Amino acid sequence: MPWDTRTAEQQATRQASALKAQLVDAVGPFSPFWRERLKALGKTPSQVRSPRDLATLPAVGERDVCADGDPAGAAALVLQVGESGWALHTEGPRLRRALASRLVRRGSYRGVVEADTRPTSFVFAGLALRFPVASTRSDLDVVARAGARLWQVLGLTRSDVLVCALPLLPSAALQALQLGAVGAGSPALFPGDDTDEVAAALQLVPATVLALPTGGAATWLDDLDEAGAALGSVTTVLLVGAPSDEERAEVGEALARAGMQALLLAVHAPDGHRLLWGECRQGGPGLHTYPDLDLVQLVDPETGETDDGQDPDEVVITQLGMRGSALLRWRTADLADSLDTAPCPGCARTVPRVVGVRRRALVPDVELRSGRRGVDLRSVSAALVGRADLSDWRVVLGPSARSEAYDVIVHVVPNDQEDATDVAVAVARDVRSAAGLLPTQVVINEPGTLPDGRRVSRRVHARG
Ligand SMILES: [Zn+2]
Repeated sequence: MPWDTRTAEQQATRQASALKAQLVDAVGPFSPFWRERLKALGKTPSQVRSPRDLATLPAVGERDVCADGDPAGAAALVLQVGESGWALHTEGPRLRRALASRLVRRGSYRGVVEADTRPTSFVFAGLALRFPVASTRSDLDVVARAGARLWQVLGLTRSDVLVCALPLLPSAALQALQLGAVGAGSPALFPGDDTDEVAAALQLVPATVLALPTGGAATWLDDLDEAGAALGSVTTVLLVGAPSDEERAEVGEALARAGMQALLLAVHAPDGHRLLWGECRQGGPGLHTYPDLDLVQLVDPETGETDDGQDPDEVVITQLGMRGSALLRWRTADLADSLDTAPCPGCARTVPRVVGVRRRALVPDVELRSGRRGVDLRSVSAALVGRADLSDWRVVLGPSARSEAYDVIVHVVPNDQEDATDVAVAVARDVRSAAGLLPTQVVINEPGTLPDGRRVSRRVHARG
């Protein structure tokens, strides 16, 4: 049964066994971070048998792993495996093959263990901080295999030719497109993000697919058109990074200005993940995921816990079958409207689709007075949720009244018996320790006078 037409029951069975393998044989014994975390939660890996069990684990994000904002903490996500540990936890057939080959070829056993467990390549991730995500050789195979599937979802074949204008920094999206092209057998050129170089690449090959970073894609098309780049053969434009409706519309207009007929399709790798999700060529809504390789769940962005689904939720992923840095209940900082598990109305694939994604909505990159940085609104919320000294609160992020720079203003309603000044001081201190930034201001509000704005989450609002 192909990966994308399994029934819900077939998917559930496979997910349960992949989840068991990932937890009991990989993450549980070998991830320093999760070993400690599960112990602290009073759970053993074998108690987490289903997505429902998994949903009882609090989700974690970069700030949980890199406490104090030190990216070195991300090393604790990388599985640490010795040869003897591998033998204990690897599946029977693979172990038998490896042991058999050890008899005839010296060093081959170590080769198998290392292919399976040794990180050999890295991409950078992180929103409010930057940290490396490690892949083993077998992880790269998974990325390539998922890439071949992405080509199917996007309606591309091996006769398609890709030119990609992403910066050549090691990012998950770049790696996934490079290995995806390998997996699908498509010629692909990655000239970097210089307009002249991309235009030159388009002269060299009859590109049918042009991949552009979503932010700035409209400008890219205008610039390439002005540079006289050969865009006539392009039938698909990939927007790398889930676009908003406005961004999609802007790119649509730029396509029209350049006289192009290409179809716009979004691809997106949530932060920390190594697989690109894509939209199908038949126009079904949402990003198509890989249920046997990643388990997608939604949580309340303010608490990291499963909620009633009233407001937009944060996308949380659990990787299945990935070693290297192994992510479990990973908070991506993307918001989504819903996770649709019905068959896609466009392509009829039965894979879950993440609908209405707003990339990095919970860690916006803004210009503060102290400089440009990602503001982790989840950490700011974490310092405020469930406090005994507050009856309610709001966080408002927006341009300040006097300058272009953004303010992070925390509005609080102290409980009756609390001293307002003490509360303001305590809130400022706790926000700084949880999020690594001091609020611009802590405002004491009377009950019923909290400000309103465009909602990011229930109590976090954006202004301007
Ligand atoms: Zn579809």
